[in-house]
Amino acid sequence: MSDDGGRDCGGTTRVTQAYRIALEPTAAQQAMLRSHCGAQRFAYNTGLARIRANLSQRHAEASYGLTEEHLTPLVGWSGYDLRRWFNSVKDTLAPWWAENSKEAYSSGFAHLATGLTNFRTSKKGTRKGPKVGFPTFKHKHGKQSVTFTTGAIGLVNTDSRHIKLPRIGAIRTAESTRKLARRVRNGTASIGSATVSCTGGRWFVSFVVTVQRRIHAPHFPDAVVGVDLGVKNLAVLSTGEMIPAAKHYRQAQKRRRKAARKLARRRGPARGARPSNRWQRARAELAKAEARVANQRRDGLHKLTSHLVREFGTIVIEDLNVAGMVRNRCLAKSIHDGGFGEFRRQLTYKSTWYGVRLVVADRFCPSSKTCSRCRSVKAKLGLRERVFRCEVCGLVLDRDLNAARNLAALAVSAVGPRASSASCVATVNVPAGNRVRRAPARSGTATGRPAPSGAGQPGRSNPTGQDTGRHIS
Ligand SMILES: [Zn+2]
Repeated sequence: MSDDGGRDCGGTTRVTQAYRIALEPTAAQQAMLRSHCGAQRFAYNTGLARIRANLSQRHAEASYGLTEEHLTPLVGWSGYDLRRWFNSVKDTLAPWWAENSKEAYSSGFAHLATGLTNFRTSKKGTRKGPKVGFPTFKHKHGKQSVTFTTGAIGLVNTDSRHIKLPRIGAIRTAESTRKLARRVRNGTASIGSATVSCTGGRWFVSFVVTVQRRIHAPHFPDAVVGVDLGVKNLAVLSTGEMIPAAKHYRQAQKRRRKAARKLARRRGPARGARPSNRWQRARAELAKAEARVANQRRDGLHKLTSHLVREFGTIVIEDLNVAGMVRNRCLAKSIHDGGFGEFRRQLTYKSTWYGVRLVVADRFCPSSKTCSRCRSVKAKLGLRERVFRCEVCGLVLDRDLNAARNLAALAVSAVGPRASSASCVATVNVPAGNRVRRAPARSGTATGRPAPSGAGQPGRSNPTGQDTGRHIS
């Protein structure tokens, strides 16, 4: 794949992709699915209990002054060790084990082993990201899910309305599976594993599929767009298009709050007491309200990102510090409601599928403070100032539109020759997936306006300090 706008098409790329399908299990199947989820949780929790007991035994022995070689040996933490141990004790520990597929137990141990590895590498400092603690027990009333990795997993090809799982058999789906079925028949997709989970009272299956995708040529390879994400408008495009924020969460808040209050008044799970039936109904109601918000948000983002990759050949976005932004309590809810992280994730994989070049502007690029006509940079721009007014050339423009145009300009220069004195660095995500760092030139904007008239551009050495507010525009 070349780096010139992703027009090099006809090639294929192998991607790992999830197909999430809503299920319509019968009452008997639901009971079996719940049993399998419970089996996976049981395996996880018993494995964890064993490891914890082993560790505290060793700790106690060490406190009596025993040396390392005299301590109780450490039990194995790998999925294989845990499985082997379980097979030796399952007849006494869980005499009912044969009721569920062995896959449920294996995946429980596999998940525990992953959690332990994450803890260990995080403690050693070899794992990126925030610190990972020691695994904790899974609660009965937590998220229900079970993973199958081997056996009869897949689609029932005769009618494209059923999937099959080991032990449980064929389950009817809520929607047609023909798109995935066609790929499986062609040999362009192979199903690796299936995870069944229950969200908001509905059952879903998520197939992890390795897909051989043809890379499409973009419909408009020369079209460039800058996208500025915001709170009032979800996205403002450099073309002037504004996509208003739907604010699903804020809208649903009333219903959600009512459901949450109801739940709080019911008798929930306490030590030694079963939760009341009314509590369980109230909880299902709340989960449903929350799932609805999540679905609406995801749907809106899918529509936006699909629109972008279909209409443009190059898309420039900001590298938003979402984790930092949500620390602003006044904006956190709106930012979560916007789903900025999910936007970036969807745009990244869709741009690969559609052969679109995705340019990510540097986090400290002053896109809001720069004038999109004369490129002069303001020292300060408060969050309340919704209109950008340039003191140098007199440009008056919507703040977000100005930022979007600056981003678009960054893309044009990221393609062009290297500039010697640019302060913004954009990371170019070429469709093949390799990231190229380039310094953009200053000239040329996406909006078709003439290039700025040469030198004398003041104050580009602006990014002073951590002004996170700048990105929330
Ligand atoms: Zn200006």
